[in-house]
Amino acid sequence: GAALAVGLTACGGSGAGGGSNDTASSDPADLTIGVSMPTQTSERWIADGEAVQSQLEDAGYEVDLQFANDDIPTQGQQIDQMITEGADLLVVAAIDGTALSSQLQAAADADIPVISYDRLIRDTENVDFYVSFDNYKVGVAQGTALLVGLGILNKDGSQGTATGPFNIELFAGSLDDNNAAFFFNGAFDTLKPFIDDGTLVVKSGQTSIEQAATLRWAQETAQKRMEDLLTGSYNDGTKVNGVLSPYDGISRGIITALQNAGYGPNLTSTPTPLPVVTGQDAEIASVKLINDGVQSSTIFKDTRTLAAQAVTAAQAFLEGNEPEANDTETYDNGVKVVPSYLLPIETVYKDDIQSVLIDSGYWTADEVAKGQ
Ligand code: BGC
Repeated sequence: GAALAVGLTACGGSGAGGGSNDTASSDPADLTIGVSMPTQTSERWIADGEAVQSQLEDAGYEVDLQFANDDIPTQGQQIDQMITEGADLLVVAAIDGTALSSQLQAAADADIPVISYDRLIRDTENVDFYVSFDNYKVGVAQGTALLVGLGILNKDGSQGTATGPFNIELFAGSLDDNNAAFFFNGAFDTLKPFIDDGTLVVKSGQTSIEQAATLRWAQETAQKRMEDLLTGSYNDGTKVNGVLSPYDGISRGIITALQNAGYGPNLTSTPTPLPVVTGQDAEIASVKLINDGVQSSTIFKDTRTLAAQAVTAAQAFLEGNEPEANDTETYDNGVKVVPSYLLPIETVYKDDIQSVLIDSGYWTADEVAKGQ
């Protein structure tokens, strides 16, 4: 696959080399695609990596799949190596969306198209396409799921019977991930009217994304912050009723802290039920918790469809075309607006597990029962 870059006209340095590649082989078997995923500590990224790899291989391409252990230098080195070894296209889910500029310059210099996968790569013109979900809508869905879980809204969006006031706390993801602000802003915009009218009270007062952030989305970090919130703001006997969580791993850390402090063990326990905790990714451990009435909800993002979209975009570039975008306005990476293809999301409460996750083949009933 190393031959692709040879003898090509540089394409404005953008790395979108597809248009000028007509002299190169377009036989998939001659083309290698480097796939760089952030970590294997969260199962969604393993599923993403495997789905992208198998779908690309099914289309005939060679694949070099690497996971970076959530370590920024490791990801940089892995991408450097993919370029050195002659990758013809890169698919990258960045750990730190701002840390890959030199690698991507090297990719552009070698006329290698770059697809930013799920997380937008920032501060470089050398990213050609973005495939993701509608990340602001994920946040809106999380805020809405918190309101539904508390009974303020019904699932159909109509007004529920609960009036509060409810004590809530807010968690955000890792600030170096471009998605974190989209999730938090979508959720906060949804919750704000209820905070303003006193239905919801953020008892700690920690409402900024900086205060709510969780570096590297780490479960232990979230557990520690929840413990600190309980000690700092709830030692007078008042209870937390809801926690906005952006990701299932963070949700599990929050739930552990609450259970250790005497909440639960589930959402209907007396005298102190677990608060309503949201999530994201439909990780199997959390789907089991939802099924068991412990976690309230998650947001399902079908990684199989995201992988398929990445493969479609990769094929377009490698065949000399531009991939089809369905959003050309939202994702400004600080240097340019990156043409994007955004996929839809689904909120999953306990009664949606069967129809959304099991019937679609994402998890089996047995996996849901076991949590693995
Ligand atoms: C992804 C989420 C995921 C989070 C933590 C985000 O960039 O969009 O699906 O929960 O990273 O891995």
